[in-house]
Amino acid sequence: MRIKLSFLLPALCALAVSSTAMAQTIFPLTQADILSGSHFDFKVEFGAVVDPAQVKVTINGQDYSKVLGKSAELMAREDGKEFSSLLLRDASIRKPGLYTVIASDGQKSASVNWRVYATPAKPVAKNVILFVGDGLSIGHRTAARILSKSMAGGKFTDKLAIDDMPYMALLSTQGTDSIITDSANAAHAYTTGHKSCVNALGVYCSRAANSLDHPKVETITSLAKRRGMAVGAVTNSEIEDATPAAMVAHTRRRSDFNDIVKMFYDSKIDVLMGGGSPNFLPKSTPGSKRADDVNYIDLFKQADYKLAITKTEMLAAADDATTSKLLGLYNTGNVDGALDLKFLKKGSVAKFPDQPDVPEEMAAALKVLSRNKKGFVLMVESARIDKYSHSLDPERAIYDTIMFDRAVKQARDWAKANGNNTLILVTADHSHAVSVVGTVNDEEPGTEMRNKVGTYEQAGFPNYPAPDAEGYPNKVDVSRRLRLTFGAYPDHYDTFRPFMDGEFVPTLRNAEGVMVANEKYKTIPGAVLREGNLPNKGARASNSGVHSGDDVVLTAMGPGAEKVHGQMENTELFRVMAEALALAPQQVAKAKVSKKQ
Ligand SMILES: [Zn+2]
Repeated sequence: MRIKLSFLLPALCALAVSSTAMAQTIFPLTQADILSGSHFDFKVEFGAVVDPAQVKVTINGQDYSKVLGKSAELMAREDGKEFSSLLLRDASIRKPGLYTVIASDGQKSASVNWRVYATPAKPVAKNVILFVGDGLSIGHRTAARILSKSMAGGKFTDKLAIDDMPYMALLSTQGTDSIITDSANAAHAYTTGHKSCVNALGVYCSRAANSLDHPKVETITSLAKRRGMAVGAVTNSEIEDATPAAMVAHTRRRSDFNDIVKMFYDSKIDVLMGGGSPNFLPKSTPGSKRADDVNYIDLFKQADYKLAITKTEMLAAADDATTSKLLGLYNTGNVDGALDLKFLKKGSVAKFPDQPDVPEEMAAALKVLSRNKKGFVLMVESARIDKYSHSLDPERAIYDTIMFDRAVKQARDWAKANGNNTLILVTADHSHAVSVVGTVNDEEPGTEMRNKVGTYEQAGFPNYPAPDAEGYPNKVDVSRRLRLTFGAYPDHYDTFRPFMDGEFVPTLRNAEGVMVANEKYKTIPGAVLREGNLPNKGARASNSGVHSGDDVVLTAMGPGAEKVHGQMENTELFRVMAEALALAPQQVAKAKVSKKQ
Protein backbone atom coordinates (compact mmCIF):
# COMPACT_ATOMS: atom_id res chain seq x y z
CA MET A 1 0.00 0.00 0.00
CA ARG A 2 2.51 2.57 -1.19
CA ILE A 3 1.48 6.18 -1.51
CA LYS A 4 2.54 7.99 -4.63
CA LEU A 5 4.10 11.24 -3.60
CA SER A 6 5.17 12.67 -6.96
CA PHE A 7 2.03 14.75 -7.43
CA LEU A 8 2.50 16.20 -3.98
CA LEU A 9 5.73 17.97 -4.78
CA PRO A 10 4.24 20.98 -6.56
CA ALA A 11 1.75 21.41 -3.75
CA LEU A 12 4.41 21.19 -1.09
CA CYS A 13 6.56 23.72 -2.95
CA ALA A 14 3.57 26.00 -3.18
CA LEU A 15 3.32 26.02 0.61
CA ALA A 16 6.15 28.51 0.60
CA VAL A 17 3.90 30.96 -1.25
CA SER A 18 2.26 33.14 1.34
CA SER A 19 -1.46 32.78 1.75
CA THR A 20 -3.77 33.73 4.60
CA ALA A 21 -6.18 30.92 3.82
CA MET A 22 -6.29 27.94 6.14
CA ALA A 23 -5.32 24.49 4.94
CA GLN A 24 -8.08 22.16 3.91
CA THR A 25 -10.03 20.05 6.39
CA ILE A 26 -10.87 16.54 5.23
CA PHE A 27 -13.78 14.46 6.57
CA PRO A 28 -13.72 11.74 7.85
CA LEU A 29 -10.92 13.11 10.02
CA THR A 30 -7.55 11.45 10.30
CA GLN A 31 -7.28 8.17 12.18
CA ALA A 32 -10.87 7.31 11.27
CA ASP A 33 -11.64 3.60 11.41
CA ILE A 34 -14.19 2.86 8.71
CA LEU A 35 -16.24 -0.30 8.47
CA SER A 36 -15.87 -1.79 5.00
CA GLY A 37 -18.95 -1.00 2.93
CA SER A 38 -20.46 1.42 5.45
CA HIS A 39 -21.71 4.71 4.10
CA PHE A 40 -20.06 8.04 4.89
CA ASP A 41 -20.03 11.53 3.44
CA PHE A 42 -16.65 12.64 2.09
CA LYS A 43 -16.00 16.35 2.42
CA VAL A 44 -13.01 18.59 1.77
CA GLU A 45 -13.29 22.13 3.11
CA PHE A 46 -10.94 24.57 1.42
CA GLY A 47 -9.74 27.69 3.15
CA ALA A 48 -10.83 30.02 0.36
CA VAL A 49 -12.73 30.08 -2.92
CA VAL A 50 -10.70 27.75 -5.12
CA ASP A 51 -10.10 27.36 -8.83
CA PRO A 52 -11.70 24.00 -9.68
CA ALA A 53 -8.97 23.36 -12.22
CA GLN A 54 -6.37 23.53 -9.43
CA VAL A 55 -8.17 21.18 -7.05
CA LYS A 56 -6.60 17.77 -6.78
CA VAL A 57 -7.89 15.17 -4.33
CA THR A 58 -6.35 11.73 -4.26
CA ILE A 59 -6.78 8.60 -2.23
CA ASN A 60 -3.72 6.33 -2.20
CA GLY A 61 -2.44 8.22 -5.21
CA GLN A 62 -5.53 7.73 -7.36
CA ASP A 63 -8.13 10.33 -8.09
CA TYR A 64 -10.61 10.09 -5.18
CA SER A 65 -13.52 9.41 -7.55
CA LYS A 66 -11.91 6.13 -8.63
CA VAL A 67 -11.65 4.89 -5.05
CA LEU A 68 -15.04 6.18 -3.91
CA GLY A 69 -16.79 5.21 -7.14
CA LYS A 70 -18.27 8.62 -7.92
CA SER A 71 -17.46 12.30 -8.19
CA ALA A 72 -18.26 14.99 -5.68
CA GLU A 73 -20.02 18.27 -6.06
CA LEU A 74 -17.66 21.26 -5.73
CA MET A 75 -19.54 24.01 -3.94
CA ALA A 76 -17.82 27.18 -5.15
CA ARG A 77 -19.15 29.25 -2.25
CA GLU A 78 -20.47 26.99 0.50
CA ASP A 79 -23.46 28.58 2.24
CA GLY A 80 -22.75 31.74 0.24
CA LYS A 81 -19.46 32.28 2.07
CA GLU A 82 -15.99 32.97 0.67
CA PHE A 83 -14.80 29.38 0.69
CA SER A 84 -15.28 26.29 -1.42
CA SER A 85 -16.01 22.72 -0.40
CA LEU A 86 -16.06 19.37 -2.11
CA LEU A 87 -18.88 17.14 -0.90
CA LEU A 88 -19.67 13.54 -1.82
CA ARG A 89 -22.64 11.99 -0.04
CA ASP A 90 -22.94 8.26 0.64
CA ALA A 91 -19.43 7.19 -0.27
CA SER A 92 -18.11 3.82 0.81
CA ILE A 93 -14.96 1.72 0.53
CA ARG A 94 -15.09 -2.04 0.39
CA LYS A 95 -11.44 -3.05 0.35
CA PRO A 96 -9.83 -3.15 3.80
CA GLY A 97 -6.52 -1.41 4.34
CA LEU A 98 -4.84 1.91 4.98
CA TYR A 99 -5.94 4.87 2.93
CA THR A 100 -4.17 8.20 2.65
CA VAL A 101 -6.24 11.09 1.37
CA ILE A 102 -4.46 14.18 0.05
CA ALA A 103 -6.33 17.32 -0.93
CA SER A 104 -4.68 20.24 -2.67
CA ASP A 105 -6.12 23.51 -3.94
CA GLY A 106 -2.97 24.16 -5.96
CA GLN A 107 -1.42 26.10 -3.11
CA LYS A 108 -1.99 24.25 0.09
CA SER A 109 -2.18 20.56 0.73
CA ALA A 110 -3.55 18.54 3.62
CA SER A 111 -3.74 14.82 4.24
CA VAL A 112 -5.51 12.33 6.48
CA ASN A 113 -5.20 8.60 7.02
CA TRP A 114 -8.09 6.17 7.32
CA ARG A 115 -8.17 2.53 8.25
CA VAL A 116 -10.86 0.49 6.51
CA TYR A 117 -11.61 -2.81 8.21
CA ALA A 118 -13.64 -5.82 7.19
CA THR A 119 -15.52 -8.20 9.45
CA PRO A 120 -15.54 -12.01 9.53
CA ALA A 121 -17.63 -13.69 6.86
CA LYS A 122 -20.13 -15.13 9.31
CA PRO A 123 -21.64 -13.54 12.40
CA VAL A 124 -20.78 -15.15 15.74
CA ALA A 125 -23.69 -13.45 17.51
CA LYS A 126 -27.32 -13.40 16.45
CA ASN A 127 -28.23 -10.44 18.64
CA VAL A 128 -26.51 -7.54 20.38
CA ILE A 129 -27.76 -5.75 23.48
CA LEU A 130 -25.85 -2.55 24.24
CA PHE A 131 -26.43 -1.17 27.73
CA VAL A 132 -25.56 2.46 28.35
CA GLY A 133 -25.62 3.73 31.92
CA ASP A 134 -25.57 7.42 31.12
CA GLY A 135 -22.86 9.04 33.22
CA LEU A 136 -22.24 5.76 35.07
CA SER A 137 -18.94 6.15 36.90
CA ILE A 138 -16.90 3.95 39.23
CA GLY A 139 -18.38 5.83 42.21
CA HIS A 140 -21.99 5.04 41.19
CA ARG A 141 -21.04 1.45 40.55
CA THR A 142 -19.44 0.96 43.94
CA ALA A 143 -22.29 2.76 45.70
CA ALA A 144 -24.88 0.57 43.97
CA ARG A 145 -22.95 -2.51 45.02
CA ILE A 146 -22.85 -1.35 48.65
CA LEU A 147 -26.61 -0.68 48.73
CA SER A 148 -27.63 -3.70 46.68
CA LYS A 149 -25.32 -6.48 47.90
CA SER A 150 -24.45 -7.64 51.40
CA MET A 151 -20.94 -7.93 52.79
CA ALA A 152 -19.24 -10.41 55.11
CA GLY A 153 -15.62 -10.45 56.22
CA GLY A 154 -14.91 -7.33 54.16
CA LYS A 155 -16.06 -9.04 50.97
CA PHE A 156 -19.21 -8.68 48.95
CA THR A 157 -21.25 -11.85 49.13
CA ASP A 158 -22.60 -11.38 45.61
CA LYS A 159 -21.71 -9.42 42.48
CA LEU A 160 -23.61 -6.90 40.43
CA ALA A 161 -24.68 -8.30 37.08
CA ILE A 162 -22.84 -5.44 35.35
CA ASP A 163 -19.59 -6.53 37.03
CA ASP A 164 -19.94 -10.29 36.81
CA MET A 165 -18.82 -10.61 33.20
CA PRO A 166 -15.76 -12.33 31.72
CA TYR A 167 -14.46 -9.40 29.67
CA MET A 168 -13.71 -5.86 30.75
CA ALA A 169 -12.01 -2.80 29.28
CA LEU A 170 -11.51 0.87 30.01
CA LEU A 171 -12.84 3.16 27.29
CA SER A 172 -11.56 6.64 26.58
CA THR A 173 -14.37 9.02 25.70
CA GLN A 174 -12.61 12.08 24.25
CA GLY A 175 -14.00 13.70 21.09
CA THR A 176 -12.74 15.57 18.04
CA ASP A 177 -13.14 18.98 19.67
CA SER A 178 -12.52 18.41 23.37
CA ILE A 179 -11.24 16.10 26.10
CA ILE A 180 -14.73 16.23 27.66
CA THR A 181 -17.61 14.62 25.82
CA ASP A 182 -21.36 14.97 26.07
CA SER A 183 -23.89 12.18 25.65
CA ALA A 184 -24.40 12.94 21.97
CA ASN A 185 -20.93 12.50 20.62
CA ALA A 186 -20.25 9.70 23.14
CA ALA A 187 -23.24 7.63 22.01
CA HIS A 188 -22.42 8.50 18.39
CA ALA A 189 -19.02 6.80 18.87
CA TYR A 190 -20.83 3.59 19.86
CA THR A 191 -23.43 3.67 17.11
CA THR A 192 -21.16 4.74 14.21
CA GLY A 193 -17.57 3.87 15.16
CA HIS A 194 -16.48 7.44 14.41
CA LYS A 195 -15.44 10.22 16.76
CA SER A 196 -17.28 13.52 16.71
CA CYS A 197 -17.73 16.69 18.73
CA VAL A 198 -19.97 17.88 21.57
CA ASN A 199 -23.70 17.96 20.62
CA ALA A 200 -23.22 16.03 17.35
CA LEU A 201 -25.02 12.83 16.33
CA GLY A 202 -24.14 10.73 13.27
CA VAL A 203 -22.08 13.51 11.67
CA TYR A 204 -18.60 14.96 11.68
CA CYS A 205 -18.58 18.59 12.77
CA SER A 206 -17.88 20.69 9.72
CA ARG A 207 -18.43 24.39 9.04
CA ALA A 208 -21.83 23.80 7.38
CA ALA A 209 -24.33 26.45 8.44
CA ASN A 210 -27.30 24.08 8.73
CA SER A 211 -27.13 21.51 11.53
CA LEU A 212 -28.47 18.83 9.16
CA ASP A 213 -25.86 19.43 6.41
CA HIS A 214 -22.74 18.11 8.13
CA PRO A 215 -20.88 15.04 6.77
CA LYS A 216 -22.82 11.96 7.84
CA VAL A 217 -21.63 8.52 8.88
CA GLU A 218 -23.80 5.40 8.90
CA THR A 219 -25.39 4.17 12.14
CA ILE A 220 -25.61 0.62 13.45
CA THR A 221 -29.38 0.91 13.01
CA SER A 222 -29.00 1.48 9.29
CA LEU A 223 -26.40 -1.28 8.95
CA ALA A 224 -28.49 -3.79 10.90
CA LYS A 225 -31.64 -2.88 8.99
CA ARG A 226 -29.75 -3.45 5.73
CA ARG A 227 -29.25 -6.99 7.06
CA GLY A 228 -32.93 -7.42 7.79
CA MET A 229 -32.37 -7.37 11.54
CA ALA A 230 -34.71 -5.69 14.04
CA VAL A 231 -33.50 -2.68 16.02
CA GLY A 232 -34.71 -1.13 19.25
CA ALA A 233 -33.89 1.71 21.61
CA VAL A 234 -35.34 1.96 25.10
CA THR A 235 -34.59 4.56 27.75
CA ASN A 236 -36.08 6.50 30.63
CA SER A 237 -35.12 9.85 29.15
CA GLU A 238 -37.07 11.66 26.50
CA ILE A 239 -36.69 9.38 23.48
CA GLU A 240 -35.31 12.27 21.39
CA ASP A 241 -32.48 12.74 23.91
CA ALA A 242 -28.89 12.18 22.83
CA THR A 243 -28.27 8.52 23.60
CA PRO A 244 -31.36 6.98 21.95
CA ALA A 245 -31.17 9.58 19.16
CA ALA A 246 -27.63 8.40 18.35
CA MET A 247 -29.17 5.15 17.12
CA VAL A 248 -30.57 6.93 14.06
CA ALA A 249 -29.83 10.66 13.97
CA HIS A 250 -27.60 12.78 11.74
CA THR A 251 -27.42 16.28 13.12
CA ARG A 252 -24.80 18.67 14.44
CA ARG A 253 -27.27 19.76 17.12
CA ARG A 254 -28.71 17.20 19.53
CA SER A 255 -31.53 19.60 20.42
CA ASP A 256 -33.07 19.19 16.93
CA PHE A 257 -35.77 17.09 18.62
CA ASN A 258 -38.38 17.51 15.90
CA ASP A 259 -35.95 16.47 13.19
CA ILE A 260 -34.86 13.54 15.33
CA VAL A 261 -38.46 12.28 15.60
CA LYS A 262 -38.60 12.32 11.80
CA MET A 263 -35.29 10.44 11.68
CA PHE A 264 -36.67 7.78 14.04
CA TYR A 265 -39.67 7.42 11.74
CA ASP A 266 -37.56 7.29 8.57
CA SER A 267 -35.15 4.77 10.12
CA LYS A 268 -37.96 2.22 10.58
CA ILE A 269 -36.52 1.34 13.98
CA ASP A 270 -38.74 -1.44 15.34
CA VAL A 271 -38.99 -0.63 19.04
CA LEU A 272 -38.74 2.83 20.54
CA MET A 273 -39.56 3.56 24.18
CA GLY A 274 -39.05 6.42 26.60
CA GLY A 275 -40.59 9.80 27.39
CA GLY A 276 -40.86 12.92 25.29
CA SER A 277 -44.26 12.61 23.61
CA PRO A 278 -44.75 16.37 22.86
CA ASN A 279 -42.35 16.24 19.89
CA PHE A 280 -44.55 13.59 18.26
CA LEU A 281 -47.70 15.71 18.32
CA PRO A 282 -48.73 18.40 15.82
CA LYS A 283 -48.39 21.98 17.03
CA SER A 284 -52.17 22.33 17.08
CA THR A 285 -52.29 19.81 19.96
CA PRO A 286 -52.05 21.48 23.40
CA GLY A 287 -48.64 20.73 24.93
CA SER A 288 -47.03 19.96 21.55
CA LYS A 289 -43.42 20.97 21.03
CA ARG A 290 -43.50 20.57 17.26
CA ALA A 291 -43.15 23.55 14.94
CA ASP A 292 -45.25 21.88 12.23
CA ASP A 293 -48.56 20.12 11.96
CA VAL A 294 -47.20 16.65 11.34
CA ASN A 295 -48.75 14.06 13.64
CA TYR A 296 -46.03 11.47 14.16
CA ILE A 297 -48.20 9.43 16.49
CA ASP A 298 -50.56 8.87 13.56
CA LEU A 299 -47.69 8.25 11.14
CA PHE A 300 -46.14 5.60 13.38
CA LYS A 301 -49.53 3.94 13.83
CA GLN A 302 -50.10 3.96 10.07
CA ALA A 303 -46.71 2.26 9.71
CA ASP A 304 -48.01 -0.64 11.87
CA TYR A 305 -46.49 0.41 15.19
CA LYS A 306 -48.48 -0.44 18.30
CA LEU A 307 -48.63 2.62 20.55
CA ALA A 308 -48.31 2.35 24.34
CA ILE A 309 -48.56 5.31 26.69
CA THR A 310 -48.71 3.30 29.92
CA LYS A 311 -46.96 0.23 31.30
CA THR A 312 -50.24 -1.68 31.07
CA GLU A 313 -50.54 -0.90 27.36
CA MET A 314 -46.88 -1.78 26.81
CA LEU A 315 -47.26 -5.19 28.45
CA ALA A 316 -50.37 -5.95 26.40
CA ALA A 317 -48.73 -4.87 23.14
CA ALA A 318 -45.61 -6.93 23.83
CA ASP A 319 -47.66 -10.01 24.72
CA ASP A 320 -49.61 -9.75 21.48
CA ALA A 321 -47.82 -12.15 19.12
CA THR A 322 -48.71 -9.97 16.14
CA THR A 323 -46.75 -6.98 17.48
CA SER A 324 -43.52 -6.50 15.54
CA LYS A 325 -43.19 -2.73 16.00
CA LEU A 326 -43.77 -0.83 19.21
CA LEU A 327 -43.69 2.85 20.10
CA GLY A 328 -43.88 3.55 23.84
CA LEU A 329 -44.15 7.13 25.10
CA TYR A 330 -44.79 7.12 28.84
CA ASN A 331 -44.20 10.70 29.88
CA THR A 332 -44.21 14.17 28.38
CA GLY A 333 -40.70 14.64 29.82
CA ASN A 334 -38.32 12.03 31.21
CA VAL A 335 -39.71 8.82 32.71
CA ASP A 336 -39.31 8.95 36.50
CA GLY A 337 -36.31 7.26 38.07
CA ALA A 338 -36.44 4.22 40.34
CA LEU A 339 -36.45 6.02 43.72
CA ASP A 340 -39.49 8.13 42.77
CA LEU A 341 -41.24 5.47 40.70
CA LYS A 342 -41.01 2.70 43.28
CA PHE A 343 -40.65 4.31 46.71
CA LEU A 344 -41.11 8.07 47.14
CA LYS A 345 -43.76 8.66 44.42
CA LYS A 346 -42.31 12.11 43.78
CA GLY A 347 -41.23 13.64 40.47
CA SER A 348 -44.06 13.23 37.95
CA VAL A 349 -45.35 9.93 39.34
CA ALA A 350 -48.68 11.46 40.43
CA LYS A 351 -49.26 12.72 36.89
CA PHE A 352 -48.01 9.54 35.19
CA PRO A 353 -48.78 6.74 37.67
CA ASP A 354 -48.40 3.83 35.23
CA GLN A 355 -44.87 4.23 33.80
CA PRO A 356 -42.62 1.21 33.24
CA ASP A 357 -39.08 1.14 34.61
CA VAL A 358 -36.14 0.38 32.33
CA PRO A 359 -36.05 -3.40 33.02
CA GLU A 360 -39.77 -3.61 32.19
CA GLU A 361 -39.27 -1.65 28.98
CA MET A 362 -36.39 -3.93 28.07
CA ALA A 363 -38.37 -7.12 28.72
CA ALA A 364 -41.13 -5.86 26.44
CA ALA A 365 -38.58 -4.86 23.79
CA LEU A 366 -36.98 -8.32 23.89
CA LYS A 367 -40.36 -9.97 23.31
CA VAL A 368 -41.06 -7.85 20.26
CA LEU A 369 -37.56 -7.77 18.73
CA SER A 370 -36.94 -11.51 19.12
CA ARG A 371 -39.86 -12.15 16.75
CA ASN A 372 -37.43 -11.22 13.95
CA LYS A 373 -35.66 -14.46 13.08
CA LYS A 374 -32.64 -12.59 11.68
CA GLY A 375 -31.77 -11.22 15.09
CA PHE A 376 -31.75 -7.76 16.62
CA VAL A 377 -29.71 -4.89 17.99
CA LEU A 378 -31.14 -3.31 21.15
CA MET A 379 -29.78 -0.28 22.97
CA VAL A 380 -30.95 0.01 26.59
CA GLU A 381 -30.23 3.20 28.47
CA SER A 382 -30.56 4.10 32.14
CA ALA A 383 -30.47 7.80 31.41
CA ARG A 384 -31.05 9.41 34.74
CA ILE A 385 -27.85 8.24 36.44
CA ASP A 386 -26.44 11.19 34.51
CA LYS A 387 -29.33 13.56 35.05
CA TYR A 388 -29.35 12.99 38.83
CA SER A 389 -25.58 13.46 38.89
CA HIS A 390 -25.97 16.80 37.13
CA SER A 391 -28.41 17.75 39.89
CA LEU A 392 -26.02 16.50 42.62
CA ASP A 393 -28.64 14.00 43.84
CA PRO A 394 -26.60 10.93 44.76
CA GLU A 395 -29.39 8.67 46.05
CA ARG A 396 -31.46 8.97 42.88
CA ALA A 397 -28.37 8.28 40.77
CA ILE A 398 -27.53 5.20 42.85
CA TYR A 399 -31.08 3.79 42.67
CA ASP A 400 -31.00 4.19 38.89
CA THR A 401 -27.67 2.35 38.80
CA ILE A 402 -29.34 -0.50 40.69
CA MET A 403 -32.17 -0.37 38.13
CA PHE A 404 -29.59 -0.54 35.35
CA ASP A 405 -28.03 -3.59 36.97
CA ARG A 406 -31.41 -5.25 37.19
CA ALA A 407 -31.97 -4.73 33.47
CA VAL A 408 -28.59 -6.30 32.73
CA LYS A 409 -29.42 -9.27 34.98
CA GLN A 410 -32.67 -9.81 33.09
CA ALA A 411 -30.91 -9.59 29.73
CA ARG A 412 -28.35 -12.15 30.82
CA ASP A 413 -31.13 -14.51 31.92
CA TRP A 414 -32.93 -13.93 28.63
CA ALA A 415 -29.77 -14.62 26.60
CA LYS A 416 -29.14 -17.84 28.52
CA ALA A 417 -32.69 -19.05 27.92
CA ASN A 418 -32.63 -18.08 24.24
CA GLY A 419 -29.70 -19.84 22.63
CA ASN A 420 -26.70 -18.12 24.23
CA ASN A 421 -26.08 -16.26 20.99
CA THR A 422 -26.47 -12.68 22.24
CA LEU A 423 -23.52 -10.36 22.72
CA ILE A 424 -24.11 -8.20 25.80
CA LEU A 425 -22.08 -5.01 26.21
CA VAL A 426 -22.45 -2.86 29.32
CA THR A 427 -20.90 0.56 29.58
CA ALA A 428 -21.33 4.27 30.20
CA ASP A 429 -21.08 7.05 27.68
CA HIS A 430 -18.97 9.27 29.94
CA SER A 431 -18.29 9.68 33.63
CA HIS A 432 -19.00 12.21 36.36
CA ALA A 433 -16.59 13.39 39.04
CA VAL A 434 -18.23 11.28 41.74
CA SER A 435 -16.74 9.24 44.58
CA VAL A 436 -17.73 7.20 47.61
CA VAL A 437 -15.83 8.85 50.46
CA GLY A 438 -17.51 7.41 53.56
CA THR A 439 -20.77 7.63 55.48
CA VAL A 440 -22.86 10.24 57.30
CA ASN A 441 -23.92 9.12 60.77
CA ASP A 442 -26.79 11.06 62.41
CA GLU A 443 -25.94 9.43 65.77
CA GLU A 444 -22.71 11.40 66.06
CA PRO A 445 -22.93 14.25 68.60
CA GLY A 446 -23.51 17.91 67.72
CA THR A 447 -25.48 19.72 65.04
CA GLU A 448 -22.81 20.28 62.43
CA MET A 449 -23.47 17.72 59.71
CA ARG A 450 -19.90 18.01 58.50
CA ASN A 451 -18.68 16.47 61.74
CA LYS A 452 -21.00 13.48 61.30
CA VAL A 453 -19.14 12.41 58.17
CA GLY A 454 -17.10 9.28 58.78
CA THR A 455 -13.98 8.50 56.78
CA TYR A 456 -11.64 5.52 57.03
CA GLU A 457 -12.62 3.37 60.06
CA GLN A 458 -15.21 5.98 61.14
CA ALA A 459 -17.06 5.34 57.90
CA GLY A 460 -17.85 1.78 58.96
CA PHE A 461 -20.89 0.44 57.10
CA PRO A 462 -24.18 2.18 56.24
CA ASN A 463 -27.38 0.78 57.76
CA TYR A 464 -29.71 0.55 54.79
CA PRO A 465 -32.21 -2.31 55.08
CA ALA A 466 -31.46 -5.49 53.15
CA PRO A 467 -32.32 -5.04 49.48
CA ASP A 468 -35.73 -6.13 48.21
CA ALA A 469 -36.21 -8.70 45.44
CA GLU A 470 -35.27 -6.10 42.82
CA GLY A 471 -32.07 -5.11 44.64
CA TYR A 472 -33.22 -1.82 46.21
CA PRO A 473 -33.19 -0.98 49.94
CA ASN A 474 -36.78 0.11 50.65
CA LYS A 475 -35.60 3.01 52.83
CA VAL A 476 -33.10 5.60 51.71
CA ASP A 477 -33.15 8.10 54.62
CA VAL A 478 -31.43 5.80 57.10
CA SER A 479 -29.41 7.13 60.04
CA ARG A 480 -26.04 6.00 58.70
CA ARG A 481 -25.91 6.52 54.96
CA LEU A 482 -23.47 6.58 52.12
CA ARG A 483 -21.55 9.79 51.46
CA LEU A 484 -21.17 10.05 47.69
CA THR A 485 -19.56 13.37 46.78
CA PHE A 486 -19.24 15.34 43.57
CA GLY A 487 -15.92 16.89 42.62
CA ALA A 488 -17.19 19.56 40.21
CA TYR A 489 -20.21 21.64 41.22
CA PRO A 490 -21.95 25.02 41.16
CA ASP A 491 -22.86 26.99 44.31
CA HIS A 492 -25.35 24.92 46.33
CA TYR A 493 -26.37 23.94 49.84
CA ASP A 494 -24.92 20.62 50.92
CA THR A 495 -27.60 19.01 53.10
CA PHE A 496 -25.87 15.67 53.79
CA ARG A 497 -29.28 14.03 53.32
CA PRO A 498 -31.36 12.37 50.61
CA PHE A 499 -33.97 14.59 48.95
CA MET A 500 -37.23 13.00 50.01
CA ASP A 501 -39.48 15.63 48.40
CA GLY A 502 -38.14 15.34 44.87
CA GLU A 503 -34.97 15.73 42.82
CA PHE A 504 -32.45 18.27 44.13
CA VAL A 505 -32.42 21.62 42.35
CA PRO A 506 -29.04 22.84 43.57
CA THR A 507 -28.62 26.13 41.74
CA LEU A 508 -30.70 28.92 40.21
CA ARG A 509 -29.83 31.87 37.99
CA ASN A 510 -30.44 35.16 39.82
CA ALA A 511 -31.69 38.47 38.36
CA GLU A 512 -28.11 39.45 37.44
CA GLY A 513 -27.65 36.19 35.55
CA VAL A 514 -25.32 34.69 38.16
CA MET A 515 -25.68 31.05 39.20
CA VAL A 516 -26.42 31.00 42.92
CA ALA A 517 -27.28 28.35 45.50
CA ASN A 518 -31.01 27.54 45.70
CA GLU A 519 -32.17 29.12 48.98
CA LYS A 520 -34.92 26.53 49.30
CA TYR A 521 -32.43 24.21 51.01
CA LYS A 522 -30.82 26.82 53.28
CA THR A 523 -33.02 26.07 56.28
CA ILE A 524 -32.54 22.31 56.28
CA PRO A 525 -30.82 21.64 59.64
CA GLY A 526 -27.07 21.45 59.15
CA ALA A 527 -27.10 22.58 55.48
CA VAL A 528 -23.79 24.16 54.46
CA LEU A 529 -23.25 26.57 51.59
CA ARG A 530 -20.75 25.16 49.12
CA GLU A 531 -19.13 27.79 46.96
CA GLY A 532 -18.94 26.24 43.54
CA ASN A 533 -15.78 25.38 41.65
CA LEU A 534 -17.42 25.79 38.24
CA PRO A 535 -18.01 29.07 36.37
CA ASN A 536 -21.02 30.99 37.71
CA LYS A 537 -21.15 33.96 35.31
CA GLY A 538 -21.17 34.55 31.58
CA ALA A 539 -21.38 32.06 28.76
CA ARG A 540 -19.61 29.35 30.73
CA ALA A 541 -21.89 29.51 33.78
CA SER A 542 -23.14 26.13 34.99
CA ASN A 543 -26.14 25.39 37.20
CA SER A 544 -25.25 21.72 37.60
CA GLY A 545 -22.49 19.18 38.03
CA VAL A 546 -20.58 18.33 34.87
CA HIS A 547 -19.20 15.33 33.00
CA SER A 548 -15.65 14.23 33.64
CA GLY A 549 -13.13 12.98 31.12
CA ASP A 550 -12.30 9.87 33.14
CA ASP A 551 -12.41 6.56 31.29
CA VAL A 552 -15.54 4.46 31.58
CA VAL A 553 -15.78 0.72 32.19
CA LEU A 554 -17.01 -1.68 29.50
CA THR A 555 -17.94 -5.20 30.54
CA ALA A 556 -19.02 -7.85 28.07
CA MET A 557 -20.18 -11.42 27.66
CA GLY A 558 -21.48 -13.65 24.91
CA PRO A 559 -20.14 -14.39 21.43
CA GLY A 560 -17.65 -11.74 20.26
CA ALA A 561 -17.09 -10.37 23.77
CA GLU A 562 -13.48 -11.57 23.86
CA LYS A 563 -12.52 -8.51 21.79
CA VAL A 564 -13.17 -6.41 24.90
CA HIS A 565 -9.94 -6.02 26.87
CA GLY A 566 -7.38 -3.50 28.00
CA GLN A 567 -7.79 0.18 27.22
CA MET A 568 -9.83 0.98 24.13
CA GLU A 569 -11.23 3.98 22.30
CA ASN A 570 -15.01 4.26 22.66
CA THR A 571 -15.26 3.89 18.85
CA GLU A 572 -13.88 0.36 19.18
CA LEU A 573 -17.11 -0.72 20.88
CA PHE A 574 -18.84 -0.22 17.52
CA ARG A 575 -16.26 -2.45 15.89
CA VAL A 576 -16.87 -5.19 18.49
CA MET A 577 -20.57 -5.13 17.56
CA ALA A 578 -19.88 -4.93 13.80
CA GLU A 579 -17.51 -7.89 13.96
CA ALA A 580 -19.84 -10.02 16.09
CA LEU A 581 -22.67 -9.41 13.63
CA ALA A 582 -20.41 -9.52 10.52
CA LEU A 583 -21.89 -6.23 9.34
CA ALA A 584 -19.39 -5.53 6.55
CA PRO A 585 -20.48 -6.80 3.16
CA GLN A 586 -18.27 -9.70 2.18
CA GLN A 587 -15.43 -9.22 -0.26
CA VAL A 588 -15.56 -10.57 -3.78
CA ALA A 589 -13.54 -13.73 -4.35
CA LYS A 590 -9.82 -13.09 -3.93
CA ALA A 591 -8.96 -14.03 -7.53
CA LYS A 592 -11.07 -11.15 -8.76
CA VAL A 593 -9.45 -8.52 -6.58
CA SER A 594 -7.12 -6.29 -8.55
CA LYS A 595 -3.49 -6.80 -7.65
CA LYS A 596 -2.73 -3.19 -8.31
CA GLN A 597 -2.47 -0.62 -5.46
ZN1 LIG B 1 -24.99 14.65 31.13
